[in-house]
Amino acid sequence: MKKLFVSFMCVLFATLSAGVHAKRWDPAILDLERIELAPNVYAVVDTLSAEWLEENASAATSGGFIVGEKGVLVVESFVNARLAAQMIALINEVTRKPILYVVNTSYHGDHMYGNYLFPNATIIQHEESRKYAEEHWEDDLNFMLNMFGHPDGHDGMQENSPRTGDILITDDTDYIRVDLGDRNVEIRQFGFGQTKGDLQVWLPDEKVFWTGNSLIGPAPLVPWLTEGGHALSLATLKRYRDFLPEGTTIVSGHSVPFKIGDENDGLDFHIAYLSALDESVRTSVENGLGLMDTVDAAEMPEFSAYDLFNWNHKQMNVPCAYKHYMAMAGKELTEEEQAVTQHCHN
Ligand SMILES: [Zn+2]
Repeated sequence: MKKLFVSFMCVLFATLSAGVHAKRWDPAILDLERIELAPNVYAVVDTLSAEWLEENASAATSGGFIVGEKGVLVVESFVNARLAAQMIALINEVTRKPILYVVNTSYHGDHMYGNYLFPNATIIQHEESRKYAEEHWEDDLNFMLNMFGHPDGHDGMQENSPRTGDILITDDTDYIRVDLGDRNVEIRQFGFGQTKGDLQVWLPDEKVFWTGNSLIGPAPLVPWLTEGGHALSLATLKRYRDFLPEGTTIVSGHSVPFKIGDENDGLDFHIAYLSALDESVRTSVENGLGLMDTVDAAEMPEFSAYDLFNWNHKQMNVPCAYKHYMAMAGKELTEEEQAVTQHCHN
């Protein structure tokens, strides 16, 4: 497992450093800002999120916080002490109430490394996130360092120490309700989105929904299926669409919030993308195409504006969908195909 992970990391890193001219956020210099979505309900996003979206790029991790009578619930603890401290400062500017809960929407480090900086809060995670963090802390840290670190360590990620969940949600949990006094917050799971440990936060009265990385952002951003699982992810996003009422504000994983029904509605765009990906790759495998021809056939220009498309679509999402349909058809992958799809577990 470790070997597979490391080689995927190398592919990822080599790709990002060599061929792809994409914007990459830097946890050593970026700043977070607060966006008020409803009274006492805030998204917290990279200050460059809106600007980068205009250039078809995703930004750093988005989270948020909710202030209730009893205290505060935080969504995401970010990738290093610097950003976790910014989150705490943004909260302290609007309330001095205690931070009672931190929810991690995934086991990726940019969503949970900062947990240790909230010593008095109860951490809420999916049980798969705790398991992953306990078993793969070092691999994951190396992955994040390769993606976003600096050789001299001024990103601060090396100082992170693991702190995992106190309250765990499982695949069998429908949702848990957190009582903040004058309002309830629902912590839900809708199934695999990008990882086995995805959680969502739902405020039914204010109609605000945090998705984590299962939804990267508004159109034209498209999913990062770092572990594969496009069919599972598509089913999960369709469950969101069935569940969420019109007018819901979605705080996505790596960009600005948007509303369902907006022109750039990322939920619809992600669903359309994954449906097109599914159709294209399924047809290619049925027609006996190999992986390289399947990638060529899945050009999908209507979804290609995202600045990471040549990487996340062609090198990650298509190969994983190919592996999925080859397995369904009982067909063998070549050695080379196995090598480039070893990160696709789902
Ligand atoms: Zn993320």
